[in-house]
Amino acid sequence: MSDLAQLQQTYQQFKALNLSLNIERGQPSNENFDLCLDLLESVDRDLIVTDNGVDIRNYPGGILGLAEARELFSEQLRVDADEIMIGNNSSLELMSRIFSSALLHGVNGSAGGWIHDQPRMIVTVPGYDRHFSLIQSLGFEMVPVSIDSNGPNIDAIESLAASDSRIKGIFFVPTYSNPTGDTISEANAKRLIGLTPAATDFTIFADDAYGVHHLVDDPPAAPNLLSIAKAAGFDNRVIVFGSTSKVTFAGSGLGMAGMSRDNLAYWSSVFNKQTIGPNKAEQWRHVQFLRHYPGGLRGLMKDHAKILKPKFDAVQEILNAELGNLGLATWTDPRGGYFVSLKTALPIATRVVSLASEAGLSLTPPGATHPNGHDPDDCIIRIAPTRPPLGEVRQAMEILACCIKLAAAEHA
Ligand code: PMP
Repeated sequence: MSDLAQLQQTYQQFKALNLSLNIERGQPSNENFDLCLDLLESVDRDLIVTDNGVDIRNYPGGILGLAEARELFSEQLRVDADEIMIGNNSSLELMSRIFSSALLHGVNGSAGGWIHDQPRMIVTVPGYDRHFSLIQSLGFEMVPVSIDSNGPNIDAIESLAASDSRIKGIFFVPTYSNPTGDTISEANAKRLIGLTPAATDFTIFADDAYGVHHLVDDPPAAPNLLSIAKAAGFDNRVIVFGSTSKVTFAGSGLGMAGMSRDNLAYWSSVFNKQTIGPNKAEQWRHVQFLRHYPGGLRGLMKDHAKILKPKFDAVQEILNAELGNLGLATWTDPRGGYFVSLKTALPIATRVVSLASEAGLSLTPPGATHPNGHDPDDCIIRIAPTRPPLGEVRQAMEILACCIKLAAAEHA
């Protein structure tokens, strides 16, 4: 039997199993959620007034969130308690409010709304589809730069930012990036913060969604962007975002943003006109839950890692065993975050995703990791192994490897 015929036979065998597997989106597993079930009972009718005397049933409480929540989550964003705002259930929502307001009014220190400047925003590719759709829907033109194990391509960013005043900033994931798992290096973080942009209000929008999502016990410390900015005298250049979506309940927790005190005052005055304040009941629930969780936030993240690490190990083990020496693909081996990014040597990502789908395995649509949904080399496949049970992750990886081999053989 030819190699192609043999691969087709293996593929048909997988198909005959009538599986329904999904490694498409980065979602926690039910086992992860179960760690946080006490959240549902962490506040009751006897616990409706915070330590600082705020009654969570009434309006007063402030635009920046409960003081106790700001204190607690300052650890997550690695900022001071007076450098963070705690919002509602989604960091993407906070980002979208800040981008929308920047279009209308500019950021702290802007001469006016960015909308008048036909603004451009640097994005890293491969990257996160929702970043692309968010800023594109608002009218930003995306300027792609590559990303590798040292983070975004800093040479490209320096020269783009220096030469084009329409470039208003960069929107990227500094730690365990979606989908590559890359973390910006200290040296690159310093260069990024210290660059000389043509736009004086150039802003670094750092979506640190995975800043505390380590898979290993002693992760190397990722650069602290706000500290670096302060030390360099560019305090207002950085805004860091995060959320509890993969800490407690996805989309049912808290979003947060860290920034200089000056920026916080600026954005408070913008947000003050939009709302009386964020949902204090949810914030208080999170504070109570994390205060009582063994080891607090760190303890919880370690427990999450115990569930997630074997899945990431399985991805590496099966890809190495099935594709290790074939030269058909390379893939990342992240120390944290929610994704592995696989790059095929041939332009076959679309075919692989379609073969996988026919065999009952849902993968992120090809091109989703690129602006406009178009991967010009048709080679990036995002693997999100966190949601299914370990056994299903293993099956999914066996099928993915088979589809890559089959698509490569067809291509040849
Ligand atoms: N940022 C990144 C980089 C993500 O990967 C995700 C979830 N996939 C989010 C933000 C979503 O965050 P939230 O639920 O806080 O809106």
